[in-house]
Amino acid sequence: MDLMRAARLHLPSHALTIEDVPRPVPGVGQVLVKVEAAGVCLSDVHLIDGTLTPTYPPGDCVTLGHEVAGTIAELGPEVTGWTAGQRVVLQAGEVRDGRLLTRGVDYDGGWAEYALASVGTLFALPDSIPIEQAAIIPDAVSTPWGAITTTAQVRPAQAVGVWGIGGLGAHGVQLLRAVGACPIIAVDPVPAARRRALDFGADLALDPADPRLREQVLAATGNQGLAAAFDFAGVAAVREQALTVLAPKGRLVLVGLTDKPLTVTDGTRFSYLRHQILGHYGSEENAVAQLVALTEGGRLDFSRSITDVLPLADAAKAVQRLHTKEGDPIRLILRP
Ligand SMILES: [Zn+2]
Repeated sequence: MDLMRAARLHLPSHALTIEDVPRPVPGVGQVLVKVEAAGVCLSDVHLIDGTLTPTYPPGDCVTLGHEVAGTIAELGPEVTGWTAGQRVVLQAGEVRDGRLLTRGVDYDGGWAEYALASVGTLFALPDSIPIEQAAIIPDAVSTPWGAITTTAQVRPAQAVGVWGIGGLGAHGVQLLRAVGACPIIAVDPVPAARRRALDFGADLALDPADPRLREQVLAATGNQGLAAAFDFAGVAAVREQALTVLAPKGRLVLVGLTDKPLTVTDGTRFSYLRHQILGHYGSEENAVAQLVALTEGGRLDFSRSITDVLPLADAAKAVQRLHTKEGDPIRLILRP
């Protein structure tokens, strides 16, 4: 039996270990992908620290990694239309038996030399898109894309706010720029993150601790407030602050995950202004294909998104760097 290296999370102990495991064999309708790049996401940090648990646990142990790109190594039975050696990016999850399962959470993901993928989760990758940049399209780019275009339904010229300028938020700013939102107001406590927000296309970047935050948002939006606010951080205080600067009928979209309760401090004001709070997770099935096309067409550019590339053996180090925000990373990539 052929073995491969994989970074596995042991669910009872939350230990992350690099192990040799059997190289999977593609079944009917599946391909085996040689992983060339796999992103490290804040939800990986949260799976390891235990604040996030798989909805449909695959057993005691799972290979992490839901942002995966590589080349097809082997085709399973009855697979047509794909060839070995083809460059691909993988959807971050799939529906099985009516349940939405997330790659690298509910089933084995791409922090490994090889990963299995159902053909329905494969997207062909044009040569013009570097493999590291492709790897982060599922999730780091597609999740804010889904939040902006599907859940919040942002229209051109609408005022928007983005809380948390990490991996999702930095891309959120770029995507809001691409869909014509204006103004784009970024909020982050870290000065480097605020600078990055401005570099990536925000019109204004504010510190959440600034007592004049509400005043400044109102001044920037003709006294209207925000048509849509995005919590990419998953922080209770963010949600309460965002609700104070929403325009009438404004939407607060919750993208960052947290197990903390959701509080509406002033229920009367919330109802009077007809505010909405919307949960968001993942993206529509066509999101990755749309984003690959927009990137190939020069409308989006993720060349600044890859902070560093590390070997798979350094998975724990990468997780720690994201957790401590050392070097303020947007995305770290593991290369098996
Ligand atoms: Zn993620």
